[in-house]
Amino acid sequence: MITQYGWSDALARDFKPHARAGYVPGRVVVQRRDGYLVTADRGELRAKLSGRLRHEAREIGHPAVGDWVAMSVNAAERTATIHALLPRRTAFIRRAADSLQTPQVIAANVDLAFIVTSMNGDLNPRRIERYLAAAWQSGARPVVVLTKSDLCADTGPQTAEIEALAAGCPVVSISARQGVGLDALLAHLAPGETCVLIGSSGVGKSTLVNVLLGEQRMATASVREGDDKGRHTTSHRELVLLPGGGLIVDTPGVREIGLVDAEDGVSVVFDDIEQLTQTCKFSDCAHANEPGCAVRAALDDGTLDPDRWAHFQKLGLELAAMEQKAERLARDAERRRQGGLQKGYRATKKDVRGGADR
Ligand code: GDP
Ligand code: ZN
Repeated sequence: MITQYGWSDALARDFKPHARAGYVPGRVVVQRRDGYLVTADRGELRAKLSGRLRHEAREIGHPAVGDWVAMSVNAAERTATIHALLPRRTAFIRRAADSLQTPQVIAANVDLAFIVTSMNGDLNPRRIERYLAAAWQSGARPVVVLTKSDLCADTGPQTAEIEALAAGCPVVSISARQGVGLDALLAHLAPGETCVLIGSSGVGKSTLVNVLLGEQRMATASVREGDDKGRHTTSHRELVLLPGGGLIVDTPGVREIGLVDAEDGVSVVFDDIEQLTQTCKFSDCAHANEPGCAVRAALDDGTLDPDRWAHFQKLGLELAAMEQKAERLARDAERRRQGGLQKGYRATKKDVRGGADR
């Protein structure tokens, strides 16, 4: 059962100490303020964090959709307690201003990021660069998906443009409406691997998810279920098995991934430019009027596209600005923390609960 969800020999090795402690493995399929839904060999279980893990989570962050966890199970009640989080292979992280100390993981262990953009006129190379960077940074492999090919007489030029930009990562064009290109798209996803669709609103992500899930969509639709306080909350699966054997993480958080907050991803996408800047005569070259500037030379002889250079710079500046903001917020948080410690601050129940979905 959990093999379908991507359980592997490597995970089994990581899990050994937990197995010795009598725990069972599971993968988080839903993360909610009031708890988790975890899939395990005995089916889906409603789970909560152990007190100790909840305490640790204030430092290391909470388990997220896609995470593998170690649980003790109450078989009679079909509930579980999560005691440990297994090491993540990949993670999509959002650094919201207020959760800077513990970056919020919005999806873990994603193998493949489909970067979705549409053919009909609003092809935005800059945005694709950012999504590519977000994917690289998470550790997932990016595949660019050009949707709505049925609206485009000749998909060649756009595909070529994206291929140039995507620096070696695969590009597939599809029409969800006509069912064209879906096999080629799914060929990138091995059984047990997990994918996400990221991209701007309106490019056709929901339509594609529905097509990929086919009949299964019904089973994933929201169901109402009571939580243990008798309140009613809406719940649904955010990690879903695809009929073909892969899995998809489909959450609003993942879809909204926008600007990347790390330079890593950007430099992979702009690898060629990065290398170029290192061949400038001066190591602190500002690439303005310095003698021996490799960037200027490449711009002059046409080997570097001025657009790409401009966007590399723009992205760099934005990242620097974000870093400054992040540092300021971190300082503020540290000051608050120290102030709190002086007042003999103790976590209130509300704080613990409020942090449960971070
Ligand atoms: P999302 O915001 O990315 O989830 O985009 P949607 O899936 O909601 O699609 C936005 C619009 O594009 C809808 O009107 C869809 O019917 C349309 N659309 C999606 N896929 C295709 C396609 O393959 N061909 C055409 N012609 N339209 C599509
Ligand atoms: Zn230079």
